[in-house]
Amino acid sequence: MLNSDTPKTFATAVNCMDGRVQTTVMVFAKARFGVDFVDMVTEAGAVANMNEGVFRHVEISVQAHSSQGIVVAAHSECAGNPVSDEEQKEQCRAAAELLKGEWPDLEVIPVWVPLGEDLEILC
Ligand SMILES: [Zn+2]
Repeated sequence: MLNSDTPKTFATAVNCMDGRVQTTVMVFAKARFGVDFVDMVTEAGAVANMNEGVFRHVEISVQAHSSQGIVVAAHSECAGNPVSDEEQKEQCRAAAELLKGEWPDLEVIPVWVPLGEDLEILC
């Protein structure tokens, strides 16, 4: 168990608010970046709603927690972004580019979460 003297490491996830995808994205981000915690920045259909609030929250994660990297996620059956899977994947890649533009020193990984199936890294 972590005590208060143990250094804590963080990554950041930009994710939909949908409860069905929180654990999947968090587990992936923790493993991918080898960190203790994941700061979860959520918005309904986040990849189609990359608003000022999303960037402000990521900035806090990067500055205050020295985030090691960013995952940006979209998922199937998204109520907040009811477009085709292919369009969502394109939006997710574009969102990753926006984040990369703001934080060029951090690795930014776009991912697709098909409900009930394995998470897929988008190239
Ligand atoms: Zn969603």
